[in-house]
Amino acid sequence: MAQLLEGKLIAERLRNEAAAEAAELKKSGVVPKLVAVQAGENPASAVYLKSQKNQCAKVGLDYELRTCPADIGQAELAAEIERLNQDRSVNGIILQMPLPGQLDGRKLQAAILPEKDVEGITPANLGRLVLAKPRFVPCTAAGVMELLKSTGDNLYGKEAVVVGHSEIVGKPLALLLLAEFVTVSVCHIATGERGHLADHVGRAEILVVAVGKAGLIKGEWIQKGATVIDVGINRVGDKLVGDVEFEAAAERAARITPVPGGVGPLTVAMLIRNTVLAARAALG
Ligand code: NAD
Repeated sequence: MAQLLEGKLIAERLRNEAAAEAAELKKSGVVPKLVAVQAGENPASAVYLKSQKNQCAKVGLDYELRTCPADIGQAELAAEIERLNQDRSVNGIILQMPLPGQLDGRKLQAAILPEKDVEGITPANLGRLVLAKPRFVPCTAAGVMELLKSTGDNLYGKEAVVVGHSEIVGKPLALLLLAEFVTVSVCHIATGERGHLADHVGRAEILVVAVGKAGLIKGEWIQKGATVIDVGINRVGDKLVGDVEFEAAAERAARITPVPGGVGPLTVAMLIRNTVLAARAALG
């Protein structure tokens, strides 16, 4: 039976480090501040936003949620972001996705000052990832790397398969793994459609799945002794499950993340860490 890879303890360590750094900054009169901007209210974002608020309070950061009207125009929201860019008391800006259909989210994200882009999603920060000179790394991908590093395993030369190629998880994670000289295959919808998913998954010593489809990855596909990181979050009835058939996969894997409680706790912890780093950098 696989060992459980839980994010809780690592998240707690990251929060403690951030709290110590925030206390240090306070001596210079600085309280790091994170501002989340949303357009309209989306029930799917509520849990994430609540967790941001609670964890900022725990660590001693200022937090503000700005809810704009759902019918806000592109120029108006861009102006709001620009105000936050200029506001010296604000260190981190999050633009909560998804946005209502009239808005071009990609353009608005790109308008965030890279120094305040604590989610690491601006072209400038993603570009730095390609150059292996990261500033802020997309939080979930960074969380997966923390989990992998917590195992103490040497990553050098390992075979990793990442299923899912989103801009916030799969693609940045592939770059972070490459920076550690891991051999990475990235699978996506077309891999699944051609029926090649099982072959790829079977080769993975490290498997990371970020798709959003319950039961997509069959337990029997998993290589014996693999490390399995399930990023997916799916509601099935009144339960949350990942993308991997947990019970069957745990029979073969050496380590596996639970859902919930695996990667999830690390995402907000990374956001907090990035906000504190942004505040320190702003101080010079
Ligand atoms: P996304 O929804 O933007 O993209 C889904 C990806 O899955 C795409 O690359 C797509 O090509 C691929 N895909 C779809 N069907 C497939 C199939 N049959 N076979 C292989 N690949 C397939 O991805 P996202 O935003 O990274 O989210 C993925 C999942 O991770 C969701 O469940 C989301 O809720 C979860 N998530 C969790 C956290 C966390 O903090 N734990 C953070 C972000 C996302």
